[in-house]
Amino acid sequence: MKGIINPATEEELTQVHEASVEDLDAAVSRASKAFDSWRKVTPADRARLLRRVAGLVEEHGEELARLETQNVGKPISDSRGEVGMVAEVFYYYAGAIDKHLGENIPVEGGVDITFHEPLGVVGSITPWNFPLNIASWKLAPALACGNTCVLKPAEITPLTSLRLGELVLEAGVPEGVVNVVTGSGSLVGQRLVEHPDVAKVAFTGSTQVGAGIMKGAADTIKRVTLELGGKSANIVFADADLDSAATSAGPAVFGNAGQDCCARSRILVQRKAFDRFASLFVEATAKMKVGDPEDNATEMGPLVSADQRDNVASYVDMDVMFAGDVPEGAGYWYPPTILGPISNGSKQAREEIFGPVACLIPFDDEDEAIRIANDTPYGLSGSIWTRDVGRALRVARGVNSGVLSINSNTSVRPSTPFGGMKQSGFGRELGMHALAGYSDIKNVFISTEE
Ligand code: NAP
Ligand code: MG
Repeated sequence: MKGIINPATEEELTQVHEASVEDLDAAVSRASKAFDSWRKVTPADRARLLRRVAGLVEEHGEELARLETQNVGKPISDSRGEVGMVAEVFYYYAGAIDKHLGENIPVEGGVDITFHEPLGVVGSITPWNFPLNIASWKLAPALACGNTCVLKPAEITPLTSLRLGELVLEAGVPEGVVNVVTGSGSLVGQRLVEHPDVAKVAFTGSTQVGAGIMKGAADTIKRVTLELGGKSANIVFADADLDSAATSAGPAVFGNAGQDCCARSRILVQRKAFDRFASLFVEATAKMKVGDPEDNATEMGPLVSADQRDNVASYVDMDVMFAGDVPEGAGYWYPPTILGPISNGSKQAREEIFGPVACLIPFDDEDEAIRIANDTPYGLSGSIWTRDVGRALRVARGVNSGVLSINSNTSVRPSTPFGGMKQSGFGRELGMHALAGYSDIKNVFISTEE
């Protein structure tokens, strides 16, 4: 058994089974058996069940939000928003799947028709920063397409995934269609990746583990989609609404205590507006409410673990422009911190810190902004702040990231594609594009020759 810790109090919440390789194999075998009948359920009937899952998530919204907050340390207002999105994601794929149609293609001597066939058993491996949300991004489209699933949540944050598993059964989804296996990544995660009866692995986590997943999946030619790390740029031009840019820059890097792959952790500011932006940003950051995540007014909680806090702290050794306050006593606290002005070549600007640390980097013109934004191995998200529409689009086309926002810091919506370029991974989640990651195309030719 593994003790599950509340990062705000360091108290044990409960204990969870640590699965063995045999447990994982048994889950894959149940999922394989369930696939034979689940694939034959009509899209309309699958949609009905997914809608019921969404309804139960809404009904149990407050319970799920509390559980997520206690396990991850994220502010309760954020958890409520995330649980709301989980329901939306199930509704979205319930609504999508009976419109995910094949084609008919007239060809010489007949007609070609295509089918979207389910893959089989999908292994989903999720990280600790948005456990329930990311689980829904993988389960909902996979189930909608007719696959069955084995979900391996991060070992330290399994509680909402386990509860979701119960709600899926309560909704009437047949046993074996969704299986949640708790245990360590290096043991059961690795086995899921290598298991010969698993058709695809949908992974969200670090770039380093993602590289190992590709290798592990190679021997059985598994489909793989990877949502990995980021070091995204928030580009602020001098002509922007600096007040909005500065007030929204905080949530874009300190949200979820910076433990967000989309964090816009490199803030690139045009030199002539640098001092003005920096003072507005420091002012806004100083007002952030850091504290008890179960308090409705809290904007930032603790980090998820002592390891994570210590790793973040190891990056803050120079150019500290601002560091906020944190509660005293128990909890894995780290203050919102602003470094700057720093160079894009520094370790702090190159590596994913995955904590509440913003790097301010000056630039002179549009070309330099694009060059710095792209001077990173990652390419996940980013923002562009300017009142010049032409420039906004030129920069958006120039920055090699999968998800960009103009005059906004938001990245994630149920109906729009989400995913990375470069070492931030490949494949898209959410929106209609995700369905391609959970189905194969079968082409059937019908002769019309006499
Ligand atoms: P991680 O160490 O890569 O772990 C992610 C998941 O993979 C966990 O469930 C982990 O299990 C499992 N795992 C670890 N080693 C494995 C292996 N050898 N085989 C199979 N599975 C394995 O990442 P994390 O520390 O949980 O999360 C932080 C990182 O994830 C950051 O770099 C962040 O950028 C990235 N992330 C990316 C996105 C995105 O959408 N692009 C979203 C969120 C997070 P255990 O933890 O139980 O060992
Ligand atoms: Mg890890």
